[in-house]
Amino acid sequence: MSDKHYSFFGAVEKSFDKAAKFTKWDPGILEQIKACNAIYSMRFPVKRDDGTIDVIEAYRVQHSHHKAPCKGGIRFAAEVNQDEVMALAALMTYKCAIVNVPFGGGKGGIKINPREYSPFELEKITRRYTSELIKKKFIGPGTDVPAPDYGTGEREMAWILDTYTTMHPGEIDAAGCVTGKPVSQGGVRGRREATGLGVFFGLREVCNMPEVMERLGMTVGVEGKKIVVQGLGNVGYHTAKFFQDAGALIVGLAEYEGAIYDENGLDVDEVFNHRKTSGSILNFRTATNLANNTDALEQECDILIPAALENVINVKNAPNVKAKIVGEAANGPLTPEADEILTAKGIIVVPDMYLNAGGVTVSYFEWLKNLSHVRYGRMEKRFNENMNAHIVTQMEGLSGKKMGLKEKEYIVHGADEVDLVYSGLEETMVTATREIMNEWKNDPSIPDMRTAAYVVAINKVATSYAELGIFP
Ligand code: NAD
Repeated sequence: MSDKHYSFFGAVEKSFDKAAKFTKWDPGILEQIKACNAIYSMRFPVKRDDGTIDVIEAYRVQHSHHKAPCKGGIRFAAEVNQDEVMALAALMTYKCAIVNVPFGGGKGGIKINPREYSPFELEKITRRYTSELIKKKFIGPGTDVPAPDYGTGEREMAWILDTYTTMHPGEIDAAGCVTGKPVSQGGVRGRREATGLGVFFGLREVCNMPEVMERLGMTVGVEGKKIVVQGLGNVGYHTAKFFQDAGALIVGLAEYEGAIYDENGLDVDEVFNHRKTSGSILNFRTATNLANNTDALEQECDILIPAALENVINVKNAPNVKAKIVGEAANGPLTPEADEILTAKGIIVVPDMYLNAGGVTVSYFEWLKNLSHVRYGRMEKRFNENMNAHIVTQMEGLSGKKMGLKEKEYIVHGADEVDLVYSGLEETMVTATREIMNEWKNDPSIPDMRTAAYVVAINKVATSYAELGIFP
C-alpha cells in the first residue's frame, strides 16, 4: 500500500464526504459548504538586500462566507501552494463551527522559506502582501482577519496592523483587522500560548473520559502519561510545556534537524534553551539521539502529538506508531491512508480541525477586545476583589478563625485578562470535546473521532445556511 497522490484539499473533501453520509442535508447545501468561496492568488516583486529581485507567490483564500469576517492564519513556508491554502481555509470553517466562533474560514500563505530572508526583506514582503489584500478588500475587521500560522508570529502581525491602519486613517475598529498582535498593539494576553493550551485542554478532556480510557487500556487523567511532541515551535513548545506542568512525562521531542528520546522525561525549557544555544536539539544530556526527526513518531509513548507540518504520518510509518492517542496539533499531519491504518489499530486520533482551535478561539477574544476597546477584566477586577475581601472578613468573623495568607490571596484575587482568556478557552475546548464524543457515542456507525467532528461541523454550518436562506 502507498499513499495516494491526492491534494490536501482533496483529503479534506474526502473526510467531509465520509462524514456527510451521517447527516441528512440537501446535497446542494453540502456542495456549497465544501466549496471555497473566494480565492486570491497573487504575484509581486521584492527587492532583496543584495539588489536582486524575487517574484513572490502568495495566496489568501476565503473558504466560507456563511459568517463574517473570515478568519485564518498566514503561513510563510517554501511548500505553500494554492491547494494547501484552500485546504487550510476549509479546515478553519469547520474548526470555527465546532468551537462556536462566529467566523467563516480563511487562510493565507506566502511561498518563501523565511529563514532565507532578512528581517528587512520579510517586513517588505509582509507589508506588500497586506497592501495587496487591502486592494482587493481581502482584509478588514468585518471582512477577513488574518492571524499567525507556521513561520509567522507577533512581529508579522504588527507589520500587517501598521500597514492596514496607515491606509485606513480614522477607522475606529482598525485594530481588529488582524489577531495574534503583540499586547502593546492591541493583542490579548494568552494568545501566544493559546493553541498549545487548547491542545492540552482537548487531550486532557479525552484522558478524563473513563470509558475512552478503559477502551484504550489506559488510566484516567494526564498525570504520568508519556508524551512525544514533533515540532518545538509555537504550538509544540507550549503543548509540551502544559503537559509537563500537569505531571505528564515528555519522553520525546523532535525538530527538523533530528529528535531526542528519554524514557525518564525531558525538561521542555532545558531542551528549548539547549537548542537555542547549540543550534540543535541533538546531544541533550543523556537523551538518546534519533537520526531522523520522523523517528520520534515511532517511539514508545501514550500520546503522540505532531505539531509541525502536514503528512508526516503516512503509510510507511503509520504501522509503527505505538501511541494509543494521536493528538493532531498541526493541521493535516496524517495522510488519509495513515488515518485509516491508525483507526484500524484502535488508536484514537483527536482531529486537528478542533484540537488546534485554541488559537482561533483566543483570536476571537482578541477581536472582541479590539471592537470593545477595553481590556478584559478592567471594569470588574477591583470590584470583585473588594467583594471577595469583604466575604472573607465576614467568614473569619463568623467562624472566629483566620484564613491562611495564601488561601486568602487565592480567594480574593479578581480575574485578570489572562485568567479570563484561559477560562474561556478551557470552557470552549471541554465543551467541544464532549460534543464530538457525544456525537460519536450516539451513532456507533460513525467510524472515528474525525468523522464525528466533521458531522458536528457540517450540522452547524448547514443549519446556518438553512436558517439564512440560500441567496436566490
Ligand atoms: P512554528 O513555525 O512556530 O513551529 C513549527 C516548528 O516545527 C518549527 O520549530 C520547525 O522548525 C519545526 N519543524 C518543521 N519541520 C519539522 C519536522 N519535519 N520535524 C520536526 N519539527 C519540524 O509553527 P506553529 O505556529 O507552531 O505551527 C505548527 C502547526 O500548527 C502548523 O500545522 C500550523 O498550521 C498549526 N497551527 C498553528 C496555530 C498557531 O496559532 N500558531 C494554530 C492552529 C494550527
